Order: sequence, then C-alpha cells, then structure tokens
Amino acid sequence: MRSFLFCPLLLLLATASLAQSAQGNKPAPGFSIDTIDKTIDPCGDFYQYACGNWIKNSEIPPDQSQWVSFVELHERNLDIEHGILEKAAAGGASRNAIDQKVGDLYGSCMDEKSVDAKGVAPIKPELDRIAAVSDKRALIDEIAHVHLIGPSPLFNFYSQSDLHNADQVIAYIDQGGLTLPDRDYYINDDADKVEKRQILVDCATQLFTLTGQSPQQAAKSAQTVLVIETLLAADSMDRTKRRDPKNRDHKMSRDEAAALGPNFYLNRYFTAVGAPRFTQLNVTNPDFFKQVDGVLESEPLDALKTYVSWHVLNAAAPWLSQPFVDANFKLQQKLTGQEQIQARWKRCVNLTDRELGEALGQRYVDVTFGPESKQRMLKMVDTLEKSLDQDIHALSWMSDETKTQAKVKLEAIRNKIGYPEVWRDYSSVVIKPDDLLGNVERANAFEAKRQIAKIDKPLDRKEWGMTPPTVNAYYSSSFNEIVFPAGILQPPFFDKAMDDAVNFGGIGLVIGHELTHGFDDQGRKFDPQGNLHDWWTEQDGKEFEKRASCIADEYSNFVAVDDLKLNGKLTLGENTADNGGARIALAALEHMIADDKTGKEGQKIDGYTPEQRFFLGFGRVWCEKRRAEVARLRVLTDPHSPGKYRVNGVVQNMPEFQKAWGCKASQPMVAENACHVW
Ligand SMILES: [Zn+2]
Repeated sequence: MRSFLFCPLLLLLATASLAQSAQGNKPAPGFSIDTIDKTIDPCGDFYQYACGNWIKNSEIPPDQSQWVSFVELHERNLDIEHGILEKAAAGGASRNAIDQKVGDLYGSCMDEKSVDAKGVAPIKPELDRIAAVSDKRALIDEIAHVHLIGPSPLFNFYSQSDLHNADQVIAYIDQGGLTLPDRDYYINDDADKVEKRQILVDCATQLFTLTGQSPQQAAKSAQTVLVIETLLAADSMDRTKRRDPKNRDHKMSRDEAAALGPNFYLNRYFTAVGAPRFTQLNVTNPDFFKQVDGVLESEPLDALKTYVSWHVLNAAAPWLSQPFVDANFKLQQKLTGQEQIQARWKRCVNLTDRELGEALGQRYVDVTFGPESKQRMLKMVDTLEKSLDQDIHALSWMSDETKTQAKVKLEAIRNKIGYPEVWRDYSSVVIKPDDLLGNVERANAFEAKRQIAKIDKPLDRKEWGMTPPTVNAYYSSSFNEIVFPAGILQPPFFDKAMDDAVNFGGIGLVIGHELTHGFDDQGRKFDPQGNLHDWWTEQDGKEFEKRASCIADEYSNFVAVDDLKLNGKLTLGENTADNGGARIALAALEHMIADDKTGKEGQKIDGYTPEQRFFLGFGRVWCEKRRAEVARLRVLTDPHSPGKYRVNGVVQNMPEFQKAWGCKASQPMVAENACHVW
C-alpha cells in the first residue's frame, strides 16, 4: 500500500502526536494568496515563494512534531469526531448499537480517574501469564496469545494477497519485534542512534520499575530487551531492500517454513493462534527466521520472557495510569521532538478511530460527506486517467508493445472514494464502559482474528485499508486501485469554493500521484490483476530504470536536516509519483481550459494565471514545519520526501513550470538534467 502522506508505521506515531487542544469547529485550512512571500523569486526557490508567509506566521504547537496542512486537517476532523463521541458516550435511550460501541470505548478512555485508580492492575494478568511460562515451547503459545491481543514481539503474522495470485489471500510471516522505528537504531553507532538506544533502555527501566521490579532488576531487564532487539535488528532486511517485492517473495510449504527455524515452533504457533490448516505461506525474509533461530536457542528462557513482557507492557502503557503514560510518552518525545503529550480527549478519539474505525467512520461521513463531493471527485479521477493515458501514448522511450500493456493496466485501475460500501461489523466486539485496556485487547483480537480468517479465501475487493476520517490516500498494487477517504476531500486539497486550477494543484495532484504509483519502481512490477508479473520488454525496463535513477540521484542530493541527505532510493516511488502526478494533473487542467467555451477557466485570478495558481495550490499543500528530531527520524523511515522537496524537486523537473513563471535556464528552479519518468 503506497500512501500519499506517510507510511503506516509513522501513522501510528503521528496519530499519537497530533494537535493542540482547541475545541469548536475551526475552518479548514484553505488556499490563500496570503501565504505567498512576494519578496522571493519563484524561479529561485518556489517552495519559499509559495509558503514564505505561511512559514513566518505558523508555529508548531507544543503537542506536535510537525505542522503541515494534513495535520491541520486531522485536527479539524478530531473536533468533528470529538463531538460525535461525546454525544455517543453520554448515553440515553436513543443510542443504537454503533453509538454504544464507539461511545463506551471513548468513555472508558476518558474515565481517567478510574484508569489512574487501577494502576498496574489491568496489565497484571498478562504479565503473570508470561511469568508462569516454564519452557520455550510454551513460550511460543504465549507469543501467539500476545499477538492476538495486539503487541507483536519477535515476528509478524498476517494475511495478504498472494503475490502471484492476487485474488487469493494467503498467510505471511515477516521480520519484526523491534521497539525503535528502524533496524538502524540498533546497529548504527552514530551519536543519534546511541542516544536513542539509551532512551529505550531508560524508558524500559522506568516501566519495569512501575510493575514492581527493583530499580536494579528493572535496569537489567531493560538491557535484556536491548540485547535481544539488537540481535533481531541485525538479521532484519533494510527498508530500501524491502521496496523490491522480489526480495519479499518466498512462498513455501508450512513444513519448509517450520524447518527454517526449529526454535520458532511455527506449527505450534499456527495452532495456538487459531490459523486455518493452510499448506503454503510467504516467508518474506527467510534469512531472518534462519538467523534468529540461533538466538532463540542460545538466549535463556527468562531473557526471552522479559523481552515478551516488555512488548506487552509498552503496548499497554498509554492506556494505564499516569506514570505509565508519562514513561511511554518520553520515548515518543525523544524520537519526534514533540514537547507535550496531546490532550487526553484527542488520544481517546484517535484510539476509537484505530480500534473501531469503520463504526466511528460511519458517523463521520453522515456529518461531513455528501454525494456531490463524490460526483465531482469521480469526474476528476476520470480526467486524470485520460491525462495519464495520453502521457503514456506520447512517451518517446517506450515501445508500442509495452505501451499497450501499460494502458491495459491503467484501464483496470479501480477507484474508491469517501467510504466503504460495506461497513465492517463490530457487533461481536465486547466493549465495557469501565474496562479500557480490556476493550483495547478485545478490539485488537477481533481484528487479528478477522485477518487470520481471510487466509486461503478469495480477496475481498470491497475492503478498505484506511478509515473514512483519515487525511491520506493510497494505491494498492494487489488490488490495483486508488483510494481516497472522505478525510482528505477538504480544503486545501479539495475546495468547492476554489477555481479548478487550485483544485487540480491539490486533489488533482493527489489523484495523479496515486495513479502514478501503479507505474513506479514497485508498481510497474505488478500486472493489471495485481500479480507480480513482468509485462515490460527488456529494453523498456532498462529505459525505465535509467530514468528512475535520475530521480533517485536528484533527491539523494537534497539535505533534510543539518547535513543529513535524503535517501533517494528509499523515496524513489514517492518522488516518481509526485513528479508524474504533477505533470498529468497540469495536463488535465490544460484540457479543461481548452474545452471551456466560456473562456472563464483561462482567466487570471488575483493576478495569477491558471497555471500559476495550479503551482501555488500544489505548494500550499506542502507548506510545512518540522522539528529537527522528526526530520531525522523521517529520513530513515519515511519513503516520502519533506514538503520543501515534494515541491522544489518536482517543479525544477518541469518545463511547464518554467514556462508558467518565466524562469531562465541558469536559475535554481530549472534543473540542468531534468528527470522525466512519467
Ligand atoms: Zn504515495
């Protein structure tokens, strides 16, 4: 799943770090020429030109790690969801089943007094279960139980489309089991990584102390966690290598998988976790299972139990009493630079979105999303698809044979807009008004079991991978579809009050971005049915790689923070999508202007031509402030470039931009070797 804004891992961090405590309905952050800094030459630094005044007038709120339009929008969505949940939590005779679920989950989270009074008690039974484990076989049963209630020690187990037969869902086991957001934090010895490891140890020491361990014992436990996670990290594949689906394509029989690492007791695990009797699965990183097998054998049982306890404790901490919440927040604070924890009601709204997202989402779209928005979006998607079709047709470097295949794939791309047509049914999840952690565990177990039940079944193409209030969008290669939740269909991305030029620079570019993902370094390897299957001629494949390398090299020279440069290979797919998306969105706008008999579309507004307003609308979306800590974290983990380069990296490759602003060859926004893939 390739998203527009941030990768799922960071989504967790980001949703846990959002927003200031302002109530009431704030207006959506729309497009305005007031954000422009007219003292800057647009051909010198377009990002600074489009965002200069916004940057001068904006501050990162203390409970944020960054400030950018989609975070502002998320803030606004939180307000709306807050209103829905407060009402649902208040109870009353009119409450239906959905309001009961979301209202009681939210209410149990807001009942801080009773959560604080319980202290460590809610997590004690789980810690006792682990303590009672008497051998390594029984430990794997316990890990299966822990995986069901949420935390993911040691490895990940999930279901997904078969890479070679997208219509069929199969089981996957994958590397995992780390607390810090990337393997680099464990194996790299630069000052930043050493510091973050120490913070992990401090945080773990504090949390173990809170469960009743002596300070000495807790410090020893924390060291054990670091030792085991460092061993797991050493055998994990890095993010850049994981981008190539071929590196994650290792389908084998269940017995072959079990034989890779006898100490994982995989067959026993599959039984304990309640998996169906499947015969084949994808082991995404066989080396991980082979190498870590030795670790499981050599590490004492008590050390492994300490490691599993840590994952259980750390996952529960945000939903326990205040000292646990504070200790857990420290780690996030040091990783992202966020100064303050967000208000409790925001954490509780985010929790409800995470656990019962399609129940809360139903209420959210009732309030926010009308059929009119969907119609206008469908029309734009259609226009953008036509524009990409023409772009493919006009490519000088691609043979007719591959072009025909590319068009078949483009035509097969489906779209989803707003919200799912079939809502997830949460009726079997037991939600109690006075049992926060129990609610979280039961909702997690519902989701884990739902995922496991899909194994060896046909793919449900109606399913969504994001909840409706999410301010994001994605392309999925196995579904071969683009998806736009209701949450992103608002200003500054999509504004009914604005001219088409600004909207094509906003949501038009998002649509173009997602469509281009179907043809980026990853997407191009999948066929129209979503299977990993090469449909390119050898020569065209080479021509693609050459052009993709141009983008990778270009972005590798951009400095994210201090002297830290972007990883051009990690961000290649997103940068390709940004470049292609901008080109086809602008082409679509030009068609609209050409087709407009009234001449209205071509007129200047506020002194700017439609092409200039397109680029200004695009720039506005990425006006951004980041704390240095989160900027560093993102370079390592985020396949998306920072806002400044999502704008300048794209426009300097576009002759259309240079024409719109009258830039000259020697100016910074005119790349000497402009890259062009799509
Ligand atoms: Zn993307």
